[in-house]
Amino acid sequence: MRNKKDSFKILILPGDGIGPEVVQQVTRLIEWLEQNRPISFHVTYDLVGGASLAEHGVPIRDEVIKKAWESDAVLFGSVGDPCWAHVGFDKRPEVAILALRHELGLFANLRPAKIFDALTDASTLKPEVIRGLDIMIVRESVGGIYFGDPRGIEVLPDGSKKGINTEIYTTSEIERVARVAFTLARKRCNRVCSVEKSNVMESGLLWKEVVTNIHQQEFPDVTLSHMLADNCAMQLVRNPCQFDVLVTGNLFGDLLSDLASMLTGSLGLLPSATLGETRSDGKCAALYEPIHGSAPDIAGKGIANPIGQILSFAMMLRYSLHREEEALLIESAVSHVLADGFRTADIMSEGMKCVGTAAMGDAIISKLAQLAKV
Ligand code: NAD
Repeated sequence: MRNKKDSFKILILPGDGIGPEVVQQVTRLIEWLEQNRPISFHVTYDLVGGASLAEHGVPIRDEVIKKAWESDAVLFGSVGDPCWAHVGFDKRPEVAILALRHELGLFANLRPAKIFDALTDASTLKPEVIRGLDIMIVRESVGGIYFGDPRGIEVLPDGSKKGINTEIYTTSEIERVARVAFTLARKRCNRVCSVEKSNVMESGLLWKEVVTNIHQQEFPDVTLSHMLADNCAMQLVRNPCQFDVLVTGNLFGDLLSDLASMLTGSLGLLPSATLGETRSDGKCAALYEPIHGSAPDIAGKGIANPIGQILSFAMMLRYSLHREEEALLIESAVSHVLADGFRTADIMSEGMKCVGTAAMGDAIISKLAQLAKV
């Protein structure tokens, strides 16, 4: 029986390149969930990136940002069609995602790195090192050195130049991202490792102090450890399974989350979420997207891996719509399909069944039906 309170308003922005192809598989999942689970969606689609440039002459329109504000969550495909490479930086397809992050105040980027048992051999690390890997990296995504002032390139009196970027973090910026990490840890293995360079950077020293305070005041039940960023990079390769939740600033998060993503084998498998402040109505702006780009080299061929997009939708179900059961069902269907030997070209290995985007979607949907016994 469908219950009115289980109806959700979501905005889907497929974008360009492989975006629409992989998003199509999520649309099919949504239809399946509506038919088979006590959940309904009010879905709105709109154009962003190259698709919006072609239709409206801009990578994203104000009304799309307004729709994003009014939604429970946004599912984003990818943008980056190279046929727009000739336009100015402020008009490139990629502006769409930057504008959404900025306008919605999305400050906490969540990047899970989880290994599927069936893909243990796809990693460049030894199976015994990565078996059971399940890390969540929380990266502060709107502050730090990418945005701090002063910045720029100055010409010195002798004609040589000086490049400047400034790492800045305030107490409140650190507190809000630390809260996201501690809250997530409570739903996982209850451990947070905070990563900075407090040995050489004042901003790192403040980061460590503020995270320690928030831990003592609000989350004493969670186990907190601290690690220097260079050691963390080394530990992620040496013994990645030691981590549960990692929280760090923008620069270190950028590097460490890319490193962690490669532990699992393929870009096409990995989801992400970016969250904003909790509003007065208790909701929180949130955008879910795979970590890959628009993959122009394979766009239109029907061979893209839809799993990163599908798992992004599962994250939306868990974190924005609070539908843990459906999130787990989808994650479990993906895991079973991989265990059954289905592979898209990017993760293909000997003896497995190579399938295209839609056939991977078919396999996941029929597995959902089996697991849910419908
Ligand atoms: P990319 O992630 O698009 O592709 C890198 C490689 O991985 C390519 O060989 C591609 O074929 C492969 N790949 C990526 N996703 C795949 C999938 N789902 N299935 C199978 N193979 C997959 O990165 P890139 O080539 O550096 O960037 C292409 C464009 O995407 C650029 O314009 C870039 O700016 C943009 N981009 C957008 C986003 C975003 O929309 N959030 C993120 C990253 C890059």
